[in-house]
Amino acid sequence: MRKYIADFQKLSRNLWWSWDTETKELFKELSPLLWERVNHNPVELLRHISNDELLARIDCEFGEKLERVSRKMDDYLAAKDTWAGKNAPGLVKNPVAYFSAEFGIHESVRIYSGGLGVLAGDHIKSASDLGLNFIGITLFYKEGYFRQYLNQDGWQVEDYPIQYPECLPIEKVTGPDGKDLIIPVEIGQTEVFAQAWKLQVGRARLYLLDTNIPPNEANYRNICSRVYGGDQTMRINQEIVLGIGGVKLLHALGEQPAVYHMNEGHSAFLTVELLRNQLAEGRTLEEAKQEVSSRCVFTTHTPVPAGHDRFSRDMMHYSFDKYLEQSGIQFDDLMRLGSENPDDPNSLFTMTVLALRLSRSANGVSKLHGEVSREMWQHLYEGVPVEEVPIGHITNGIHMPSWAAGFTDTFWKRFSDGIEQVTESQEQAEKALASVSDQDLWCLRYRLKRNLIDFVYRYISNQLFHQHVYATYMEEDSSRSTKNPLSPDVLTIGFARRFATYKRAPLIFRDLDRLGRIINNPSMPLQIIFSGKAHPHDDAGKEFIRQIVEYARLPQFKGKIIFLENYNLGVAKRLISGVDVWLNNPLRPMEASGTSGQKIALHGGLNFSIPDGWWPEAHNGENGWSIGHGQQFENPEEQDQRDAEELYDILENQIIPTYYERNEHNIPVKWLKKVRNAIATIAPEYNTHRMVREYTTKYYLK
Ligand SMILES: *Cc1c(COP(=O)(O)O)cnc(C)c1O
Repeated sequence: MRKYIADFQKLSRNLWWSWDTETKELFKELSPLLWERVNHNPVELLRHISNDELLARIDCEFGEKLERVSRKMDDYLAAKDTWAGKNAPGLVKNPVAYFSAEFGIHESVRIYSGGLGVLAGDHIKSASDLGLNFIGITLFYKEGYFRQYLNQDGWQVEDYPIQYPECLPIEKVTGPDGKDLIIPVEIGQTEVFAQAWKLQVGRARLYLLDTNIPPNEANYRNICSRVYGGDQTMRINQEIVLGIGGVKLLHALGEQPAVYHMNEGHSAFLTVELLRNQLAEGRTLEEAKQEVSSRCVFTTHTPVPAGHDRFSRDMMHYSFDKYLEQSGIQFDDLMRLGSENPDDPNSLFTMTVLALRLSRSANGVSKLHGEVSREMWQHLYEGVPVEEVPIGHITNGIHMPSWAAGFTDTFWKRFSDGIEQVTESQEQAEKALASVSDQDLWCLRYRLKRNLIDFVYRYISNQLFHQHVYATYMEEDSSRSTKNPLSPDVLTIGFARRFATYKRAPLIFRDLDRLGRIINNPSMPLQIIFSGKAHPHDDAGKEFIRQIVEYARLPQFKGKIIFLENYNLGVAKRLISGVDVWLNNPLRPMEASGTSGQKIALHGGLNFSIPDGWWPEAHNGENGWSIGHGQQFENPEEQDQRDAEELYDILENQIIPTYYERNEHNIPVKWLKKVRNAIATIAPEYNTHRMVREYTTKYYLK
């Protein structure tokens, strides 16, 4: 019997459970209510359930299930015949060290803010599935990213609940002496200490550095409080701990990475620590640079110059003073490595430039973003024509097992070998689809949309309760109970992502009369669900949220346009599986890739997007809709106007009529044809298994 308790503990302490539907169901079954209350966190769940109860609960059926998933996890962890074993044995022996300022692995581990983190989380999961020896490096943010509330005016308010290590599946890392492993990092004149934690993600390990420990003064303890919190000083301190501390940690663990992968420029200081190690071994600076670049690969994610991290000469001088003293690196040499214009002493230190100069390869995250990046950084490569600038691309993907809703997973198991088959190749996906009737597919759509709509109802009841503004979306009926405003019979659009202004969340409201007519068409109605957080310093983004909430209160939109607070991985999973159409209208070409649209395919949703990021590669005319043809106008007003008109035209003339065109069994045959095309063309291509294989063969293996 003790074994059962140990099994539960074991399952809860490896995030593998988060992409295994059966294990997730098992935890939920222990207490569906608690499961919701603890934000789907099994460690916390088990803290609330006594061993007596656990033992009593294990009747035959439950015990069998527990044994089965426990064995499944053991088999997974022990498997030797992996893709990497066959195709990259060198990367089974020596690890890939993957540095990222954020990791979005599961909603219960709040160390991410948005797409970059979700990508890192999906990357590490696929690396585990494929059998790479893979180590992630990040920071342990005690307060994580904020929890979003809206006040009565629709203005975003931020709250920072603390996450306690004892409620997370993380362990302190200890050194050979059995004591806590503490990594010292020099910042300014101070030696700052970081505790190392470990989080197990399937076979992969994620290490988290944490400066929130007693020897540090308060201003250094805070380095690891919040994801992207604070000012420039905080930013550089975080990046020093991540990059330099991360390399020191790997060294202390005795790891010899085959390759260091920088996911965005935040971690580029890792190259400086690698340089220091090379110089300490007696190499010249030139030799050291060669050696370091031969070990590093870099992925850039930012298609606009202003988005890249830059630090002033003074700030660099202040922060690296003591560190450089014993490193053998001259300050001016360091500055030259990160300057766009090395001859200008006032040139800022740019993390991306450092990363580009000290990597053996660099890439953007979609075909279009590769092109944009080559143009943006051509000036660093004198005399090199733009098409030969050494920045390639690997298009982002998503970890399909994590994003498949429980019912979707079951659905595909019923008609095929499961999502493994559907995501393997277009041919295999088509084969699976051949055994699915239109009736089955339509049933899947209804079921997922019903789940979403029920979820939204519970969620906004809570949300409005604390806002004391029930009137926002809900009508009270004569019995004074509220009605679910949404209906699964209605075409449902989702729009959810960070509220960075370039994503233009309010674009669809540009012509309120026209939108009002579209939404309230009695025979072909429409409903829209929004969600998303603005960065705490981004007042323009918060203003977008406020506007949308204000529009949602207009009589013509009431109950038909909903804003869900506190977008996170959990809310995302509900939305992407339930909506019919996923809207994405960024200002081209600012969406480096985007991944949220990739999440809907497996569930039978369709993309409606500006041809930006991954979408121009994926769109074939049949598997969704593009807004415009990628025209870029100088005048942002004109751009918004043209894009909005195009958006309304497609909505009115194509999307809505296709959705409501039904056969004699009330099935939208043409719509489902598009859905089939989207599943077959998107699911097998835009996933992180394909992406990580591509990173491995193109960049990780020399
Ligand atoms: C997928 C995802 C993102 C990325 O969305 P984009 O539309 O690609 O920017 C951001 N946040 C969460 C919570 C996600 O799940």
